Amino acid sequence: QKFEDAKLRDIIAANVTKSGYKLATPIQKVAIPVITAGRDLMACAQTGSGKTASFLLPILTKLLDDATDLEIGKPQAVIVSPTRELAIQIYHEARKFSYESYLKISILYGGTSVKYQNESIMMGCHVLIGTPGRLLDFVERAFITFDDTRFLVMDEADRMLDMGFSESMRKIVNHCTMRAEHQTLMFSATFPEEIQRMAGEFLNNYVFVTI
Ligand code: AMP
Repeated sequence: QKFEDAKLRDIIAANVTKSGYKLATPIQKVAIPVITAGRDLMACAQTGSGKTASFLLPILTKLLDDATDLEIGKPQAVIVSPTRELAIQIYHEARKFSYESYLKISILYGGTSVKYQNESIMMGCHVLIGTPGRLLDFVERAFITFDDTRFLVMDEADRMLDMGFSESMRKIVNHCTMRAEHQTLMFSATFPEEIQRMAGEFLNNYVFVTI
């Protein structure tokens, strides 16, 4: 299946083409229309399946299609990643796919200066990618709020669980419920009982996809 069927914004589709992607991967074929339709999603997909693009492409498209004013410290999409390495990968993909659009992408992770990362946040960002601890730290310091967050993505949820982040995940979800219309998407390589419980708790009337 070609990306032409995915109803992506032209500028995003052009960046997909520039990336050399020709055909959508199985997870992209299924997840992009579900996210575009506005549904919550629980997706079981492995690293390497193309899961990152499967959530980034429809989210970036929607941020452009239904644009709202960007306020400082109020990210419109928040992507939670278990590790700094994965956060950096997602950040680079998001930069690549939003290239030449006005969308601003920022990243937050532990182990580096709060001051430097805060300077980037103070420039404003549509999409914020971060590790759970540092994201919560910034919320608790009131550097950011999730009041304008329309999209929350929990990537590699099973890994976050294994790393002891379940309480942080719960807190992040609770901070994101300010907006009546928001979409929550969970990605996980495995689907143990605890992830099933979290899906039931965090997601509304969700679509379940396994690849
Ligand atoms: P991910 O599962 O998101 O970590 O992606 C794994 C790798 O596949 C990354 O290097 C992506 O850039 C690449 N990739 C994702 N989607 C496609 C696609 N449709 N065609 C070719 N490569 C892709």
